[in-house]
Amino acid sequence: MTRERVIDFLPAIYRPFLPDVFDRPMREERHATCAACSMCPPPEPDFPADAYFNPSTKCCTFHPALPNYSVGGLLADTSTEGAEGRRRVLATIAAGVGVTPAGLLPPARVLLLQRHGKAAFGRAERLVCPYLDREHGACTVWAQREAECATWFCKHNQGVDGRAFWKQVRDYLVEVHVALGTWVMRELGIDPDRIAEGFGPHLDALDARDLDDRPPAAADHARMWGEWTGREIAFYEAAYDMVRTLDRDRFTSLMGVAHAVTVDRIAKRHDAITDPVLPDPLLRNPLLRVDRAADGAYVLTAVDEGEATRLRSEIYPLLDLFDGRRRTTDVRARVIAETGYRVSDSFLQALYHHRILIGT
Ligand code: SF4
Ligand code: SF4
Repeated sequence: MTRERVIDFLPAIYRPFLPDVFDRPMREERHATCAACSMCPPPEPDFPADAYFNPSTKCCTFHPALPNYSVGGLLADTSTEGAEGRRRVLATIAAGVGVTPAGLLPPARVLLLQRHGKAAFGRAERLVCPYLDREHGACTVWAQREAECATWFCKHNQGVDGRAFWKQVRDYLVEVHVALGTWVMRELGIDPDRIAEGFGPHLDALDARDLDDRPPAAADHARMWGEWTGREIAFYEAAYDMVRTLDRDRFTSLMGVAHAVTVDRIAKRHDAITDPVLPDPLLRNPLLRVDRAADGAYVLTAVDEGEATRLRSEIYPLLDLFDGRRRTTDVRARVIAETGYRVSDSFLQALYHHRILIGT
């Protein structure tokens, strides 16, 4: 399916009720070429092996937290394509670790490793997602992927601004997961005190069950699930039925007053990638990391926030003309006089999106 709007990037269950901002146009992140992973070593690497992702994990060194209604959606999917995801979800439920009324949550041990092993992201076998089909390099729960998996890209067409947009969408989706998951739990009779307590592990007080990936004691499981104990699958299926039949009015009322503000923040970040207002004058970012690729191109990365951007060697010296004093029209005039190059709006926007050029 060709993805042309923001909503096209998200699981289908959200289409009937997410607000209009999700109908805004969105292009594929053309540098995140998953079939030939752009973070994995190319045939002729420019950088040491450690700089690349592990080809057998790629970016799926992450354990998702699948909300209750998404688990139900995976269980309800009896298609051939959905069979492997369904099988894995059933296996997780049978194992009993992280099986909560809020959804299927990462085991405590994995959460701890994820949290303290950021440099291992994309590399460590130990962190590989249980829903990744490694043989085919495919996600088995893609139809119901959660916030992080739906919005994470290793590279962004609009660099820093693109990443900020997708992070905002991710944060919004996490709010949706929590609000809808909580609504479902309340409607289906989960104990309110238990809901208020939350279902994630307390990482500063892990016990032997947590460290050994064992399910909670029967009494704790029963306190969590109440009358749904032993009928967890039916609970998830009921959750899915409730959410898939939501309409926009009901959804908006469930999300509460802060919802409009979060939607406005998404719109603002969408404007920043589709219709950016560039500072004038511009300045070559003093915190640029500069590498040379094997073909002589310059590889530029804004320290702390940027994504590597290649610039042809004859273009690179022109960056020095952006000294934070000359107006952009003056720089353009000088470049065309000295080199014959015309500095286009889209080129300047790209340099700004990647923070190669910044405001003063
Ligand atoms: S998004 Fe993940 S799989 Fe796709 S190119 Fe980037 S690292 Fe590779
Ligand atoms: S749920 Fe799918 S996309 Fe997300 S980490 Fe696992 S395999 Fe990758």
